[in-house]
Amino acid sequence: MISRYLTQRPRPRKRKVCEADPQRHKVYDMERTMVGACVDTTMELPTLRQIVRHACREWGLIAPKLLLKSEDNTMVFGMYYHELNTICLNHCFHGANIGVLLHELAHHIIWRRHGHDAEDHGKEFVAVYRYLLNRYNVIPDYAFDTILDRWGVEYDIHYEVPR
Ligand SMILES: [Zn+2]
Repeated sequence: MISRYLTQRPRPRKRKVCEADPQRHKVYDMERTMVGACVDTTMELPTLRQIVRHACREWGLIAPKLLLKSEDNTMVFGMYYHELNTICLNHCFHGANIGVLLHELAHHIIWRRHGHDAEDHGKEFVAVYRYLLNRYNVIPDYAFDTILDRWGVEYDIHYEVPR
């Protein structure tokens, strides 16, 4: 089975909390204000690949492949396939968007460091995502903290990051 981490456009309805990944929909709802609206920064694929390589060097991990693909499901922004060590960004939606890339890259980092031991969108994931958004000048960490607070999304403030 291919495990897919989806960054989906949130739907305005009440959802059941996913027990294995209780923060998932909070993160998606939060991203509607960032990825879906404010942070719509499309870059050329080689630039995003350079960021992937840089981040993975910094975290001491092998880099995933980065592909731009047309997905049938236009609600999907991006995906991380850990078995294939590949991140796909949806050409039909936000495309080569750095916000989407950093979400999927956070999945890669969490998977490589923790495997199944960390929730998909848990406190460790959000700590890494927060770090990446700040590191690559998308959203400064102090401003992201306000967003996390507003959406009730938690992160591990003690999570070890490269610097
Ligand atoms: Zn995700």
